[in-house]
Amino acid sequence: MSIKENYQKIRSEIGDNVMIIVAVKGRTKEEIEEVIDAGAQDLGENYVQEAESIYESLGDKVGKVRWHMIGHLQKNKINKALQIFDVIQTIDSKGIALALNERAKRIGKVVPVYIEMNIGDEMTKSGVKGEYEVVEGLAKEISKMEFLRLEGLMAMEPQFDNPQDSISCFKKAKDIFERIGALNLPNVDMKELSMGMSGSYKIAIQEGSNMVRLGSAIFGAR
Ligand SMILES: *Cc1c(COP(=O)(O)O)cnc(C)c1O
Repeated sequence: MSIKENYQKIRSEIGDNVMIIVAVKGRTKEEIEEVIDAGAQDLGENYVQEAESIYESLGDKVGKVRWHMIGHLQKNKINKALQIFDVIQTIDSKGIALALNERAKRIGKVVPVYIEMNIGDEMTKSGVKGEYEVVEGLAKEISKMEFLRLEGLMAMEPQFDNPQDSISCFKKAKDIFERIGALNLPNVDMKELSMGMSGSYKIAIQEGSNMVRLGSAIFGAR
């Protein structure tokens, strides 16, 4: 099937309340244009530099989509990131949040952010530990930062051979998401739970995700 068919099929299969973030890392300009033409409204990119070159090459189409940073954000890339991304999904420390808040303040822009949570506690991945107290601590810090607006959680789960194995991870993420929301922190509006990738999105949605990040299910294997 074509990229367009893949996107539209998945779009029609999942509920309207679930957003699709099209993960575009490593894809060509033509592939990305095809998915935008198919109706995609939200793109996710892992690398600031790659995002920048795609962004420039897309011309008018750029304005049709929202850009989500879904890769690790480095401090020295914050200014560039602020020019491109509408949402930063990968806040995983007070330090990066403070740095982002400072730069956002300089340009007078309030930036929607999510806390990235490493729900499988893998050593190699970024993201905070998938423990309520840890996420709560960071959420309270972000709540105090005037130029950041915490709007969700992004959950990275381990690669399981059997997607069913991700269920307990997703349940944990959903539980943390709801508990943070219930705190009613000032300046925090916990509305998005970004959870589930190509191999796991159906289960993630069953477990309460309202935002899935899809690459290979739309573009094919990289
Ligand atoms: C690449 C990537 C995805 C999409 O992965 P697929 O398995 O290709 O759907 C989702 N989230 C993040 C953070 C990624 O880096």
